[in-house]
Amino acid sequence: MKVVDTIPRMSTLVKIFKKEGKSIGLVPTMGYLHEGHLSLVRAASKHTDVVVMSIFVNPIQFGPKEDFEKYPRDLKRDEELATSAGADIIFSPSVNNMYPAGYSTYVNVETLTSGLCGASRPGHFKGVTTVVAKLFEIVRPDISYFGQKDAQQAIVIKKMAEDLNMGIEIKIMPTIREKDGLAMSSRNIYLSEDERKDALVLHGSLMKAEEMIKSGERESRKIIRAIEGMIKSVPSARLDYASIVDTVNLKEAKVLSGEMLIALAVFIGKTRLIDNTIVKGLK
Ligand code: AMP
Repeated sequence: MKVVDTIPRMSTLVKIFKKEGKSIGLVPTMGYLHEGHLSLVRAASKHTDVVVMSIFVNPIQFGPKEDFEKYPRDLKRDEELATSAGADIIFSPSVNNMYPAGYSTYVNVETLTSGLCGASRPGHFKGVTTVVAKLFEIVRPDISYFGQKDAQQAIVIKKMAEDLNMGIEIKIMPTIREKDGLAMSSRNIYLSEDERKDALVLHGSLMKAEEMIKSGERESRKIIRAIEGMIKSVPSARLDYASIVDTVNLKEAKVLSGEMLIALAVFIGKTRLIDNTIVKGLK
């Protein structure tokens, strides 16, 4: 496994791989790896010859009051974990390398980014699509892997790749959870012991929503009200949003039908966590 920390060095390696006819899989991350990230590496190593994991805490996707500075970082630990999962290269450029003085080009996907996390975090997705577009240019992957955990992000990136004819296959892999249901996230490290227990309300309320749907409920308002009720019952929890949207256009649905994404963002103390579930075949 190689750690590559400059763009020119990464580009040179990419040229060599292409010349050798090797396919490249890219797993973009912000590091502080967990099983969720590693599941993407494992998927990539099954389908591509060279697996590149990027580790870059991208400043332009964080709002001014968000956690860019304190976002957890541990490159040494990440190297070991990524290697064990089958990564061939860790690409970890510096902020200056990615955004030198005078940097002024951004990629923005419209419409799909206006709701859900896009509404709560203005500018967030512009930062995400810009960094991912840059990583795609640098690494030139055949396939890039993203997690269902960040459902809106995955849909937005798919749209960007399509709209800009990037010729890169975007694969979306299932959310990996702790045994008790909490979706794995680098930000879970911020939670105190009590908050960690309270955080179970995210998965719990999604399961409650699924149960209601299984019992025949199709009215979005009623399901959202049940989710809100569960979140309210946990003292350290504050709902940012709970929304039921179409999985293709991310538009809110009053009545559930076809395939729906139930997505939520909840502050547990000061930590903002997200989770979601997809329900299919609704009539
Ligand atoms: P991050 O480092 O949080 O930016 O995430 C990097 C990639 O890992 C994104 O595609 C995420 O959707 C994915 N990811 C994060 N957490 C999980 C999880 N629990 N299960 C599956 N994929 C995840």
